[in-house]
Amino acid sequence: MTAAPVFLSHESSLHHDTGQHPERIRRIEVILESLAGAPETSVYDRIDSPAARFSDLERVHSASHVERVAAAAEAGGAQLDPDTVVSAGSFVAALHAAGGAVELVRRLLAGGSGQVGFSAHRPPGHHATADRAMGFCLFNNVAVAARHATAALGVERVLILDWDVHHGNGTNDMFWESDDVLFASIHQLPLYPGSGRASELGRGQGRGYTVNLPVPPRSGDDVFISLVRDVVMPLARCFMPQLLLISAGYDAHADDPLAQCLVTDDGFIAMTALMRGLAAELEVPVGCVLEGGYDVDMLGRCVTHTMATLAAAPDCATVAGTDIPTHELAVLARERLLPFWPRISSAT
Ligand SMILES: [Zn+2]
Repeated sequence: MTAAPVFLSHESSLHHDTGQHPERIRRIEVILESLAGAPETSVYDRIDSPAARFSDLERVHSASHVERVAAAAEAGGAQLDPDTVVSAGSFVAALHAAGGAVELVRRLLAGGSGQVGFSAHRPPGHHATADRAMGFCLFNNVAVAARHATAALGVERVLILDWDVHHGNGTNDMFWESDDVLFASIHQLPLYPGSGRASELGRGQGRGYTVNLPVPPRSGDDVFISLVRDVVMPLARCFMPQLLLISAGYDAHADDPLAQCLVTDDGFIAMTALMRGLAAELEVPVGCVLEGGYDVDMLGRCVTHTMATLAAAPDCATVAGTDIPTHELAVLARERLLPFWPRISSAT
């Protein structure tokens, strides 16, 4: 029998003090308050995240990067790039953010098919590169977790869907030449950090395993849902991952102040339901790692919806919005991916 859905957090997330900054302490407080008020909370297995080990971090980061973040916190704080603040509590918070993602993966794989979960910490991770903190991110939590799965837990193929509105450039770069981690990103372009064009497809044996799906400003549910259903899901049926991870940012929401996309609460529910349904179809676990989302009321609501949708029976036929028409951007993406994934069109 599959264990209860897992929800991982750690109080150190509340000690990463960024001050007057969109990526602020309140984000985690509202998520915890919103979940506490949700009726489903009782069935979630609430877990205090362990700290990541240096050996976990150093599968994707340089030792000098880890040391730089540690030293900045030790010194009482620093600004590592124009957007990225470190306070005295930030190194410990970042260790638990990465450690939570690793523990999520460990529990997902121990629970097997049907196991679901969410790792909700700050700082977020997907902009952090091997050697650089950027875009509010210190360590790349989802990448650390995916590499833990392949290096330590015997997983041969991981699919990461990044639906944060910003391109996950750090994750993109870390798996650029890898064919065991398929990275698919839906993001607004133009927008920070400016990378993630459709032509960026990976290199060497990793070519075709980086799938960038840029969308224009004002893209809403119809675009995002169709790209998940008509591109990411067929890709997954070709790639056959043993683990699904979602870099779950909520800043594509219409209420978000940092981008111009128009996804609604129902859009995120539909995307979650599709990925939950995909996990059931492939008989693999699925878990979310928190990225962005900067309107705090929206963030609390949407994480709670995601948790409830993951925990529900995987019957996406009953979820509103999953039956929209195929979007033109999805048709174009499938054509672009055909040389690498010849079966993609028949796998819809
Ligand atoms: Zn973002």
